[in-house]
Amino acid sequence: MWTVFGQEEVISQLAAGIDKGSAHHAYLFTGPSRTGKKQAAYDLARALNCESNQAPCGKCVPCERITGGKHADVQLVDLVTRQDEPGARTAIVVEEIDTIQRAAVLPPFEGRSRVFIIDGAEFLTAGAANRLLKILEEPPPGVVFVLLAASIEKVLPTVVSRCRHFEFKLSPHALLADYLVRAEGASIEEAGVLARLSRGRTGWAIEAVRDERFRADYFVRRDNMLTLFTAGYEERFSWAESAAARFGRDRFSVQDELGELLVIVRDVLLASFGQEEYITNIDKLEEISRITGLYKPDELVGFIKAIQAAGEQLNSNINPRLALENAVLSLKAPARAIMVK
Ligand SMILES: [Zn+2]
Repeated sequence: MWTVFGQEEVISQLAAGIDKGSAHHAYLFTGPSRTGKKQAAYDLARALNCESNQAPCGKCVPCERITGGKHADVQLVDLVTRQDEPGARTAIVVEEIDTIQRAAVLPPFEGRSRVFIIDGAEFLTAGAANRLLKILEEPPPGVVFVLLAASIEKVLPTVVSRCRHFEFKLSPHALLADYLVRAEGASIEEAGVLARLSRGRTGWAIEAVRDERFRADYFVRRDNMLTLFTAGYEERFSWAESAAARFGRDRFSVQDELGELLVIVRDVLLASFGQEEYITNIDKLEEISRITGLYKPDELVGFIKAIQAAGEQLNSNINPRLALENAVLSLKAPARAIMVK
């Protein structure tokens, strides 16, 4: 069974290709984070190595070994920092593609297809992208590459041209909320709130229903961001400092957080124009309405621009603490908050 919800069109085309035995040698999945790209890549790996006639069954030995990350022919390359590494990884380098190249020419070790999943194709160095291109130009038999990226524009065009491209989409709130109730056992109220907070990213919504810790962490993070609007400069500096420290270990979580902060500011702006029905953080409407009284719309727009600028600066390896401080300090602390300090 293909396990990804909300990408029916993509999955039906992928599945049809496999059923006909005409899998492509390289795929490119693009779309926002947590829309099911990596999950679909693993489904594809299972489908190519499954022993059942209803591939991917999820239950046979190869399927289970792939699910457990134990299958020798399915490899993931990504930017997640490994334990023996001192700092955050910022690129997929040529040595990693060399390792893939050496493995790719060998016949599959235990299954039918070797599958290499490259999560973060936009972070391949120029050298690594060119090396990968060489492999894609003359792909060894039985090898399938699945490249994942946030958007097609960020991937080298020559690499794109060698891949079958599939675009992953955001799911409409109502459809997603219904799925969370039906398949994940969420209450109607919880499903409504989490579907909205997920902003259509099904993977986020499903994890939020399943994992209490994930949910709790998110709510704490959001409360801290809401506090920024009434906080004095000292508290804002400390927020920037802790986010910058986290950036050293996990740059993506900080980028995600900036994205969440943008949504909150946008909600405040919407509420200040009386457009409450469109806000994302519907469970925080009261608090958001209170914040609207503290800022003029153009101050909020300025804050949005500063947060976007910080996101771009983080991508170009500018000192993260400086970038984050600039963002939170761009919003003038309300007079009342300064007086309290
Ligand atoms: Zn199977």
